[in-house]
Amino acid sequence: YLADPNKLEKVLELLQGLVLTAETQRKIRDVFESEMELGLAKNPPVASSLQMENTFLPELCDGSEEGDYLSLDLGGTNFRVIWLSIKSGAVINEEVQYYQVPEDVRLGPGVKLFDFLAECIHNFMDGRQLKGQNLPLGFTFSFPMTQRGLDVGILVSWTKSFNCSGVVGEDAVKMLNDAIHRRGDTDVDVIAVLNDTTGTLVQGAFVDRKCAIGLILGTGSNACYIERADRIEKWEGKDKGVEEVVIDVEWGAFGDNGVLDFIKTEYDKEVDRNSLLVGSFTFEKHFGGKYLGEIVRCVLVRLTKEGLLFQGNASEHLLRHGAFTTRYVSMIEEDNVNGVDVNTTTALKELELSFNQEDIDIVKYICWLVSDRAAILVSICTASLLERMNRPETTVAIDGSLFKHHPRLKSFMEKYIAAMAPANKFKLMLAEDGSGKGAGLIAAIASRLK
Ligand code: ADP
Repeated sequence: YLADPNKLEKVLELLQGLVLTAETQRKIRDVFESEMELGLAKNPPVASSLQMENTFLPELCDGSEEGDYLSLDLGGTNFRVIWLSIKSGAVINEEVQYYQVPEDVRLGPGVKLFDFLAECIHNFMDGRQLKGQNLPLGFTFSFPMTQRGLDVGILVSWTKSFNCSGVVGEDAVKMLNDAIHRRGDTDVDVIAVLNDTTGTLVQGAFVDRKCAIGLILGTGSNACYIERADRIEKWEGKDKGVEEVVIDVEWGAFGDNGVLDFIKTEYDKEVDRNSLLVGSFTFEKHFGGKYLGEIVRCVLVRLTKEGLLFQGNASEHLLRHGAFTTRYVSMIEEDNVNGVDVNTTTALKELELSFNQEDIDIVKYICWLVSDRAAILVSICTASLLERMNRPETTVAIDGSLFKHHPRLKSFMEKYIAAMAPANKFKLMLAEDGSGKGAGLIAAIASRLK
């Protein structure tokens, strides 16, 4: 709907790669499914980009949880200690305290970090008359780790703002337990370790028993689901009688081995080139909150360079990496929902661009297209998990600011998943604070299983 049909043709041509045809979607799904199988295999002929990590969590809340539990959440912006009181499967009290981890602790020796965490736990309990009580603790450790048990988490690498020496290759649970015991004045047992994705599933299942998938749509993206133990070929030494376990797909890295190269546009390649870990986290770079706005920015810059936007004049602002935030995408999508231009106008003004109505229309179209592609990609993998579990009804617990704030990601996903897994009833549910509350709930489940 541009006045000049030539211009329209040129714009559509540059956006063509962002459109996922039915055939491409089918291919993504096939690749996802074969990567999952490879990730679960004992001796895969080629390495999968999906880690398919065993969380060793065999069941979720069943309503019989009881008692006081602590949880520790390390990995997000803040470090938190949380105290949960559960009675007959319901949380009757919840207290949270935030702590800043100083930079020298984040970058110093690992032993110092765990001593600091132990000190915070002590401080938390001391201030709450929990002194002297023996409390089980669930530890959300949102870094790449390999679990060898529900309470064994080997750190693979530090990410975000952490880089402590002497922890990679070590068990974070043991290091925390050792630090607590070194103090001698705090009676806490770390009995479970998890990441935010597993926490989201557990937290979701606490609210809705039909929950069987946990999904993160925040800075990055990941999912976990309940898998049949007999399908996990690589799981040696599984206990007899264990029928199911939560598998952490680690789908943010889907395609790191090149299997998704057929969907990469020039914009995706540019986003990757400008990112911190080039060549890693391929899948989430196509739609994660950290990248969605940047993808749109790369498209806008290209179209401007072609003279198709802003009369060929990009502002200095627009040329800056990260200047077009994912928040803008949400704002502009809101305009698409409401059939207005107010947010788009604000965003373009903030970016110091001079624009006309046609520019507004094109920008709105691009934000829709990039959001739609995000929803399709997440839906393909979610639908695949639903069909794999083949339950009559499944609730998907979702956490993360992208899902929470994007005005129609949820409705797009509902539409696509329904079309892609037509035989499986499902519900998408916002489940906040899995990394906090979820850890306490896992501690309760772990206590019950002991
Ligand atoms: P994390 O995933 O790091 O635990 P969040 O779930 O809060 O934390 O996600 C943060 C991401 O959410 C950021 O990358 C940011 O781009 C994105 N985000 C923040 N506000 C919005 C918004 N209004 N719309 C869409 N995405 C947003």
